Amino acid sequence: MKKLVFATNNKHKLAEVRAILGNQFDILSLNDIKCYEELPETANTLEGNARQKALYINQHYHYDCFADDTGLEVEALDGAPGVYSARYAALEGTGEAHDSQANMNRLLRDLQYADNRKAQFRTAICLILDNKEYLFEGIVKGQITREQRGTAGFGYDSIFMPDGYSETFAELGDDIKNKISHRAHAVQQLADFLKNQLS
Ligand code: IMP
Repeated sequence: MKKLVFATNNKHKLAEVRAILGNQFDILSLNDIKCYEELPETANTLEGNARQKALYINQHYHYDCFADDTGLEVEALDGAPGVYSARYAALEGTGEAHDSQANMNRLLRDLQYADNRKAQFRTAICLILDNKEYLFEGIVKGQITREQRGTAGFGYDSIFMPDGYSETFAELGDDIKNKISHRAHAVQQLADFLKNQLS
């Protein structure tokens, strides 16, 4: 089976991707290829970061691979926190990078007086296959709630309510979220492309 590296060690993401692509590809994680260093992620767009990570693996480890980057884009904040979603509180000095609670506190504070609560999660995936680059995107639109609700998921899940639902991602749980999420859409685009390549 053809090997394809997914530039992550996140177990949730790997399981999600293997569920969709596992029959066609042997999906390897960073640990599987013994890549233990931190990947570069210094671009100022989601696409740029995904590309940077995928190119790094391709150039240093010589595998076909793909990498993702995700951000929460809030309309009233002109698309912030966007590519800075993981470090949103750290940027203003109110939390460490990847501190979800601090990130949500900042976002709820930023939107305290905002009636426009529209937001979207957006995932960019960059694939490098046979030395060619391809980009895929997945989006889920919704609203930022006024308070946290639910306990499932991670990141901003407890304050994001996808359109068509009256629960947050954290209330809906992984089964529903994984069917409708930004990442699910982006991975599906990738899977459709790869299936076409094989047929
Ligand atoms: P990453 O590119 O997948 O690491 O995502 C960057 C940041 O976006 C994470 O640290 C989270 O704060 C946020 N994020 C990404 N995906 C999700 C999600 O599915 N739910 C909630 N927050 C997310």
